[in-house]
Amino acid sequence: MSEFVFSPKPIRIDSGSGVHLQAESGTEYLDMGASYACTPLGHSHPAVVEALTDQAERLTYVQGSYPVAVREELYDLVTETAPDPIDYGWLANSGTEANEAAIKFARHATGRSKILATKGAFHGRTLGSLAATWKPKYRDGFEPVAGGFDFVTFDDPAELREAVDEETAGVIVEPIQGEGGINPASEDFLQAVREATESVGAAMIVDEIQSGLGRTGSLWAIEEAGVVPDIITSAKGLANGLPIGATLVREWIAEDAGNHGSTFSGGPAIAAASKATLETIREEDLPGHAADLGAQFQAALEEAVGDAAGVKAVRGEGLMVGIQVKRGANGVVRDLAMDHQILALPAGRTVVRFLPPLIVEADHVERTVEAVADVLGDQA
Ligand SMILES: *Cc1c(COP(=O)(O)O)cnc(C)c1O
Repeated sequence: MSEFVFSPKPIRIDSGSGVHLQAESGTEYLDMGASYACTPLGHSHPAVVEALTDQAERLTYVQGSYPVAVREELYDLVTETAPDPIDYGWLANSGTEANEAAIKFARHATGRSKILATKGAFHGRTLGSLAATWKPKYRDGFEPVAGGFDFVTFDDPAELREAVDEETAGVIVEPIQGEGGINPASEDFLQAVREATESVGAAMIVDEIQSGLGRTGSLWAIEEAGVVPDIITSAKGLANGLPIGATLVREWIAEDAGNHGSTFSGGPAIAAASKATLETIREEDLPGHAADLGAQFQAALEEAVGDAAGVKAVRGEGLMVGIQVKRGANGVVRDLAMDHQILALPAGRTVVRFLPPLIVEADHVERTVEAVADVLGDQA
């Protein structure tokens, strides 16, 4: 029997600690991708390991209809971290499920079906979220996906305003497109989404599955645009590497969300890990750290390779950073791993992406900049 979905990389991982991953060969890698932002506290963070093992011994899982303290505490914490007045939440098991729930809740609460997404967006791979995902490669051969979805140009306020009407249930948008190539939306665009949805009674859904939890310098990237959406979705780093998702909603959505559910939602072991993750992010002010170090990282990259012949742009927000390159991003990612033992990620064909754990320090960032200069600089 053999795995057939993922194509395996030539590095076999054995263990991880903090910002490092150890291969079976003994080689140590600096993890500047955090497996797509899934381990914001780094590998095997003691607070998460302890919370998880203690809870697993006490009660690993019980069905969601029995109240359990740790699940309630996580709901309190996660809704408290969301901007006011987002006071209600639903826990799922992945990002795509968090978005499925957001789409279902928006449709039910509005009694409408039309959902607008943006070109370049990635919202997941189940047949609803997939309908909001832009690139054909994710949909090829799987159609029909869910109906009722349309796309508008990312970051074009006028086109967006034009597209939102009385039939719109919701608009779903990433404040910074991740898979699409680290594309930050302007405040104007996010404000236009807010105004347009509000004026017709539709839901503004912000997908913070990659951008959230402090990565961009505030707990939620949308806070920087000065608007409060109706729904925020989270996942990836929310339990520091264990499967979880969250759909956080305002009261008008929660009151009329319809029938939804999921067997493993908010299971006690995952809830304990997630609670420890969120507490650590807040206690250690990791959003503040991401803002400072991310600014240094971007400035140093700009200085090292901003003018290099092979580089088109350096962009991002906090510790969500992309370098748009002229050669294929995959080759740059491979060179960083094989020649410098630094793990990065591609975002589309031409963007090299860094989503390091939020506990990364200045020396790790410096080492990364030197490696990037070696791979992409004009002397390279
Ligand atoms: C990863 C991602 C998803 C999908 O999350 P899964 O856990 O893989 O289902 C959705 N939206 C964004 C912005 C993502 O980065």
